[in-house]
Amino acid sequence: MSYLFDTHCHLADPKFNFTLANDLDTAKQHSTLEFLSVGTSPADWSETLQLANHFQNIHAALGLHPYFIDANHALHLSELETLVSLNSISAIGEIGLDYSKQVKADESLQMSVFRQQIEIAQFHNLPVSIHCLKAYNPMLKFLQRHSVEGVMHGFAGGSEMATQFIEAGLYIGVNSVLLNQNARRYHEMVQLIGLERLVLESDAPFGMNLYPDSPLSSLRLVAGKIAELLNCSVDCVIEQTTRNAEQLFIRKRS
Ligand SMILES: [Zn+2]
Repeated sequence: MSYLFDTHCHLADPKFNFTLANDLDTAKQHSTLEFLSVGTSPADWSETLQLANHFQNIHAALGLHPYFIDANHALHLSELETLVSLNSISAIGEIGLDYSKQVKADESLQMSVFRQQIEIAQFHNLPVSIHCLKAYNPMLKFLQRHSVEGVMHGFAGGSEMATQFIEAGLYIGVNSVLLNQNARRYHEMVQLIGLERLVLESDAPFGMNLYPDSPLSSLRLVAGKIAELLNCSVDCVIEQTTRNAEQLFIRKRS
């Protein structure tokens, strides 16, 4: 039986008040759902690890998100390196570049912190979950020069950019933004790139404004919308996107 894989959610975020317990129960009974729960700062790393230790279908990713880069970043990076060495985790993330005005860390500091986390991922042979806002060109240049496996999460850069990130070796993560009738560019991107390099995500508890009841219901609707756009069955969408996610995030560490 095919099951869904939520490749980007924040289960340890204090704002998370969805029916996770229900989803986990359903997941356990029917094997319908796997989660990659991403951490964003030292504040949620240990809870992310605890969730992954406790539930077989929750996989942990740890990372320092650009929002949370502050004067203590060197200390936080060494803490991250220690946790990654000592625990079984599935990815580094959520990491990335965010050159929008809401982020305090300047562009060169963000790039340096991102590069150091990519080095941790490469050293431990782990994929990454990447956040990118108003920084597609520098991100693409970086990824073209480094060998990085992972997902461009919540990607909104359009078809042409998506193709270039895929050529650089990345997968494209789509969420409930796709359900917006007016998201024409987003729909076109999915139609152009097809299922080979697509993965699903809820980004819960963020990005749940359209269908807020649970990550599982959000993912089901997104899978349905992709099936409609690609003129194929929902099962086919679930099978391929889950296979993609498994190849990235469920594997033995070497
Ligand atoms: Zn996120």
